[in-house]
This record gives sequence, structure tokens and C-alpha cells, in this order.
Amino acid sequence: MKRLSLFALALASLCSAHVTYKVRLSTGSGKVVELSSEQYVAGVLAGESSTFRGEESLKAMAIAARTYAARLRGRHASDGYDFCDATHCQRFELEGSATTRFMRAAAATAGELLWFKGQLAFTPYTRDCGGQTESVQYVWPDVQAPYLSSQADPFCARAGSRTWSWCAPLQQIAAALHASNLNAPNHLSRIVAAETTPSRRILRLQLIGDGAPVLLSASSFRFALGRALGWNTLRSERYAIDNRGGLICFHGTGEGHGVGLCQTGADEMALEGHTYREILAFYYPGAVIAQTAEGFAWTRMSGETVTVFSTNPDRDHDVLRRAEALNKTLAARLHWQTPQVTIRVYPDVAAFRNATGEPGWVAAHASRLTIDLQPSTLLEGRAILTQTLRHELLHIYIERQAAPGLPLWFREGLVEYLAADESSPPHPSTALDADLAQRRDRSRAEAAYAAARARVLALMNRYGEATVFAWLARGLPDEVKNSTASSPPANNK
Ligand SMILES: [Zn+2]
Ligand SMILES: [Zn+2]
Repeated sequence: MKRLSLFALALASLCSAHVTYKVRLSTGSGKVVELSSEQYVAGVLAGESSTFRGEESLKAMAIAARTYAARLRGRHASDGYDFCDATHCQRFELEGSATTRFMRAAAATAGELLWFKGQLAFTPYTRDCGGQTESVQYVWPDVQAPYLSSQADPFCARAGSRTWSWCAPLQQIAAALHASNLNAPNHLSRIVAAETTPSRRILRLQLIGDGAPVLLSASSFRFALGRALGWNTLRSERYAIDNRGGLICFHGTGEGHGVGLCQTGADEMALEGHTYREILAFYYPGAVIAQTAEGFAWTRMSGETVTVFSTNPDRDHDVLRRAEALNKTLAARLHWQTPQVTIRVYPDVAAFRNATGEPGWVAAHASRLTIDLQPSTLLEGRAILTQTLRHELLHIYIERQAAPGLPLWFREGLVEYLAADESSPPHPSTALDADLAQRRDRSRAEAAYAAARARVLALMNRYGEATVFAWLARGLPDEVKNSTASSPPANNK
């Protein structure tokens, strides 16, 4: 029997939750490793920025990589991991993740993320922009990000941004396109630029040969050549085309898509004495660096016993009203002093997850006198806003009274007992603190919560509410401590 509140699990004891990522390694037959966020960032620095000479540019990359990961977490969730170790996600090297220099850059910026208007920023980066970055609209048309507009990059130009040339027989190019199942004339005779972006990158090419000319996106063209002929062929879309009969030559500048942080320019900025904050401000202008919530435009709404911080006060005013009423009801029920509670309602699930380290199926997170809440519209949509608030407030009440070392199952069980809405009948089983505290396996957590509740309910039946509540401050008697979860003290009632 599933209770809706299973979505609303939360633990007051998880004061410092840590974000971890599962990364699938392409070496070692696809082994999946689980790493802390900072270990992952250090490994991405090893994979993507090993040639950096500056330390501040490494730190800037650490924040870009961390934010990119936070935004895209779970990209491979259906395969059982978060990220692959290739450029599809971010190039990651496990061995390099232990390199002191990369670990230091990750640690120096630990937890720092880029935000824009309360949302995690989209932070793509490119090897070399060739002196002019690209606007996001030409590479990711769906992304709205004013901080990713095209701009001149004097740093990259000063660093001697690379130029490149590559020539190949047209026949070879046609074969590469066919190998990627792209439509191309069999007898390719010329390739010309059909459409160019303001930053002088080619958007679409026209392939001319037998039959009607074919239009092809320049990025599909580059990826097809890369797959078939290697990645040292076309380095970017910023090139001129020189048709020479059966041979075609491309003369270009830059490397990569050109959007966001330019690695050549960022490293040059560091060598010229700029800080990582200045580097990020240059490449993502308007985005804000913050550990968690500082990038949000919070509005404070205060009641008598509850203060709500919201990015959408019109919508979240109801949270204040309900929490205020619940707080008073609970104080009356428990005959305890009413705590002054702060509630932070996050604007989206990603922001909540990054602030708390909780997975998306956890509705809220309480610590001391603060409750972090998923978007209220989301909880309201599942009709669990009130019960989530009640559950978290109860945690605050229980944790304030709890004796040191009181087992997690007892505290959680008391919360569940008090929150019980005469729903499912208890079924005794093991309630291990490890099961309650873990966040990897939702069904394991659900079973542990149900078991904790059953165990406390059995104690209530046997000893009475007053006695059991007294244990909260005094600690559990030995007979309870020593009873196992699967054989709770006999219920004589
Ligand atoms: Zn991937
Ligand atoms: Zn550049």
C-alpha cells in the first residue's frame, strides 16, 4: 500500500548532503564509478583542460564543468548512470582526477555554480573561438541564454588563436558523409557555404554534384568527417572553402562550436592576471557565481512563526499560510514551544537538488530550523504540499528535543507516527538507519520508513505515548535498544 507521503521523505540528520555522480568509463569494459562532485570535476579538468597553464583559468573551467554537470545530471539515467566519459557529456579521465593540480582547482571552487535569474546557467565551453565567440542560438536553438551572445575575444586573439588547413579528395568526403547516412551526391563536384552566422561560422553548406544540390548543416558535416576521417580534419565551422577540382581545402580558425567559455582565451586571461571570477564574467556575462541559492531573487515573507523565502511570492504565499497554521497546530498537540521556522521554496527541481544534494524524489529537506522545499506547484500538483510541510515541521520539533545518539529509526518513526493520517497498516520489518539515510534506492528508503513507523507504533501500543515521548529527550531504555526490528517488544494489548 503506497502512501503519497513516500514522496515526501526527508531527514533532519542529513546536515551536509553530498552530491555524487555515476560515470561510465569507456575503458575497462564500461565500468561505472561513483564519485563525489569535486572528484568528477577534477577528472573533467584532466579530460578537457590538461593543457591549461593558468590556475585561475582552471578554476573557471571547474565552475563551468560543475555547472554543466549539475544541469545535465541524469542524462544517462535510463542506462543506470549520470554521465559517459566522452565529449557527449564531458571528457573525463579517472586517473587525472587524482592529480593534485586539478583537485586543487576543484577544491578551491568547491560547490560554486553559475546561475542566471535563479536558474542554473547553461555553461558550454569551446577549445578556441578563433577571436569571436558564437551565439548560442546557432548551436542550441532551444536555449534562451542572453549570456551566450556572440562577442569578440581579444584574449584569444592575443594568445595567437590557432589557424588550420585541411584538404581532401571530394570522393573521400562523399564516402564519409554516406557512412553517416547523410544525403550527398554520389559524384560530389563542389561544396560551397550556403548560410553563414554573423560570427563568420558556416551554418549550412551546399553540396553540388549530380542531381539537385543538397543542403547540409555544417555541424553534421563536421561530425561526419570527424567520425570517418578523424577529429583533426575540420576543427570548427569557422572556415573558408577552396574548391580545386577533385580536391577541396578548408582554411579555418578556432576549434569547437565557439559558444561560451573559450579555453584559449580563458587561459590567456589567467596568464594576464585575471581571476576566475573575471574570466567567468567575461565569457558568461550576467551569470552569477554562487554555492547554492544566492543567485536567486528571493522575496522574504514573514508570518508569526514562519518565514518563507520565495522567488515567486504570489504563488508561494499559500506555503506561508499553511505552514503557519500547521506550526501552531503541532505546538498545541505536542505542548512544546513553537519554533521559528524558515522555509526556502526553490523555483525548480534542479535548484533544489543542487542546494540540498537530495534526489528529485525527495520533496523537502529539513535541517535545524530551515526547510528546503521543492517548487510548491510541483508538490501541490501531487497533492502533497500540506503533508510535506507537516512532515518537515515535525522533524524540526523532534530533532530539537532529541537526545544525542538517538537512533534514526526512532526519530523518523516518531515523525511518521505523528504525521500518520490513518493510512496504511504497519507491517513490521527491519528499519535500518542505513536504509533510512541512503538516497540511492527509493524503494529501500520507502520500506525503511514504513518499518520505522511500524516499530514506533508498536512501542506506543506497549508503553503509551507519554513514556515513548519521554525517551526522545532521555534516550531509549536498554530493553528497546536491544530489541531487534524484526522482533519488537511483544505487543500485549
Ligand atoms: Zn554522455
Ligand atoms: Zn577565444
